[in-house]
Amino acid sequence: MLYNTKKRLICVGMWGFFSIFAPSKRKEMNHLKRFYTGFLLLLVLVSCSCKRNATGDATLTNSRVSQANSREMPLFSADSAYQYVAEQCNFGPRVPGTDAQTACAGWLEKELRRHGAQVIVQEGEMKAYNAAMLPVKNIIGSFNADAKMRVLLVSHWDSRPFADNDPDPTKHKTPVMGANDGASGVGILLELARLCSQKLPQVGIDIFLTDAEDYGAPNDWTGTHDEKWWALGTQMWCKQAAKEGYRAQYGILLDMVGSPDATFYREYYSERYASSFVNEIWQTAARLGYGDLFINQGGGGITDDHVFINRMLHIPCVDIIDTRVDAEGSFCPEWHTTRDTMDNISKETLGKVGRVLVSLLW
Ligand SMILES: [Zn+2]
Repeated sequence: MLYNTKKRLICVGMWGFFSIFAPSKRKEMNHLKRFYTGFLLLLVLVSCSCKRNATGDATLTNSRVSQANSREMPLFSADSAYQYVAEQCNFGPRVPGTDAQTACAGWLEKELRRHGAQVIVQEGEMKAYNAAMLPVKNIIGSFNADAKMRVLLVSHWDSRPFADNDPDPTKHKTPVMGANDGASGVGILLELARLCSQKLPQVGIDIFLTDAEDYGAPNDWTGTHDEKWWALGTQMWCKQAAKEGYRAQYGILLDMVGSPDATFYREYYSERYASSFVNEIWQTAARLGYGDLFINQGGGGITDDHVFINRMLHIPCVDIIDTRVDAEGSFCPEWHTTRDTMDNISKETLGKVGRVLVSLLW
């Protein structure tokens, strides 16, 4: 577990007191009558027994505390995370500028507040690849707002406006539902918010639900294709967060974390900017027996929200993203198609990713 500082009860005061007291008693021994010797001996015995009891109790208390802590590590519910994914899809594709965007943003904000987060909604406009000005709504929910040690958890909640990777060319202008590409990561983060309402972790948690990640130029766009047209919400937030001096020890981005056949390789930019945290995450997954899901091999580099967080805020941020190195495409077959729906979401995958995060954070 990261940053899990064990509390230790310190009995130095008691040890010090007894170590000063004991020699002085020995010095006086010769000058005391038998009665007083016996009395002192009794005192020493009582003191020693108190000391032992005190140390014993402290150890016991410690072990009870640590047992209680491990017992109280909250249980991640894959059913609940799945439900959160489904509820987002019930709004329809959450494309910037649509009614679904407005309605879903309100719901996300309400859910985070319901679980006790302090919520900020950052609204603004960002220019898209086609010069359209997009309304952007970033939603940030914080737990343990005063904690200096913070972890940033990120997922994009928007849907791609066009299924430009669909095998059927007539569907290339159809918006993507984004059950996996967007909603899956948000579903896991909302479930973690629910767990925070049950038991806060020791670290501060900032859940950043970022908008307009997936509005990058479509395949048939004849103008320039540039990484700057992706992750628009994250770029907007990073500018503001940098001005305000926002800091977190590390960040984790979840993207496409719900497919039944998911494989998470150690993504290139994550290794480059945050290799020690990549190690922590993949080792934790291996400990939990999820080595077949979190594959301990390098994957390709993905332009995703974490790249901008690493570059603009210098917060080491890891992308947990489903890539298929053996497949023809680099992502799952539903990626940017009309088949990215609830039919292709696995509770098992959501549960495994969620449990890795619980192990890391609590
Ligand atoms: Zn996408």
